[in-house]
Amino acid sequence: MDLNNVNDNITRRIQAMNERVAAARQAGLYFYNQPVSELHGGAHVLVNGREMGMFASYSYLGLIGHPRINAAAKAAIDRYGSGTHGVRTLAGSLALHKELEETIAAFKSAEASVVYTSGYVTNLAVISTLVGREDYVISDKLNHASIVDGCLMSGAKFLRFKHNDMAALEERLKQCPPDSARLVVADAVFSMDGDVIDLPKIAALCRQYNAWLMVDEAHSVGVLGKTGRGIEEHFNLPGVIDIKMGTLSKTIPSVGGYIAGRRELIEYLRHASRAYIFSAALPPAQAAAAKAAFEVILDEPWRVEKLNVNAAQFIKGLKARRFDTLATETAIVPVVCGADEVAYSMTRYCQLRDTFVLPVVSPAVPVGLARLRATVTAAHEPDEIERAMDVIEQAGLELGVIQ
Ligand SMILES: *Cc1c(COP(=O)(O)O)cnc(C)c1O
Repeated sequence: MDLNNVNDNITRRIQAMNERVAAARQAGLYFYNQPVSELHGGAHVLVNGREMGMFASYSYLGLIGHPRINAAAKAAIDRYGSGTHGVRTLAGSLALHKELEETIAAFKSAEASVVYTSGYVTNLAVISTLVGREDYVISDKLNHASIVDGCLMSGAKFLRFKHNDMAALEERLKQCPPDSARLVVADAVFSMDGDVIDLPKIAALCRQYNAWLMVDEAHSVGVLGKTGRGIEEHFNLPGVIDIKMGTLSKTIPSVGGYIAGRRELIEYLRHASRAYIFSAALPPAQAAAAKAAFEVILDEPWRVEKLNVNAAQFIKGLKARRFDTLATETAIVPVVCGADEVAYSMTRYCQLRDTFVLPVVSPAVPVGLARLRATVTAAHEPDEIERAMDVIEQAGLELGVIQ
């Protein structure tokens, strides 16, 4: 295809994005896809040859490179090799997959669990398997893209409610016809804002209106709850979530996604969800790493405690420096900058001073609420957090975000 001689929609879309990216690169305001060459244990990274403080990590408990997890992955390769014989349903299931699923079920206080090869695919697969044309799926407006895509793919009637607004959710539930199937889906911790879904109310409403409740714990496992088991532990409401979804790619330093819940639900997904039946099994090294990571979280409870202390220091410190951090209560801390360009300039200022933060701009967040999406982890020390906040403060003063 000669892009210069065709002018159809496909070509136009490709050209428009290429022009936008090239313009940002030329202005020195392109920060995505930067090659990280060394991870340096979680608190630091080597980016383009520069050592930077890492404040854009999802590895909340600092488990990347943990010796026990690395050893488990290496042993799995020695025992099983690097791949599987295809899909789980046929020859791809290993004893290791079963052990991982039992570990997850125990960690999440559920009867059973099933793993998929990514968190994104898990949401797509599960929502589209559970609901269809005649049904209703109700989603928080700030839910992750993978939830939105799963809702669209399902073909169910797709209703959205104002972020974390339980009166708005109740309105939506009342809109569903009496005998219709309803699935309510929400993030536990919202990935751009760091705030926590009102689990007591959402669970009560789901009970009252006979709706299934699915909660995505991508940023909740290892973060919420005294022992890091997630949002049910945080609110002391064991068992109120019907469909507990999580990823193996954030706190858990591997890749994949899981659903934990009732035995019948998991059995159904294993035999009905297309991403399980038509896509190959998780590789042995990743399954073994994930299993070891759940065990490390329980064996090293200081990590969850340290994450909480670090998050509190970061939120308090940025607020004291007069930044708007929205309603965050967790390790994800939005530093609101305003216009997209201001967020880009803030990022450049920080990265030039070896503080690795990244901008999130529209359409990922509303226009005017562009931000640095900063995170802290259990791998940071208090003085490193203080230094990063000083850099962010200088950037904010320089660019007029704060006075
Ligand atoms: C990252 C994320 C996912 C997707 O998980 P992956 O394992 O990266 O595919 C799903 N939901 C939320 C809320 C996320 O933040």
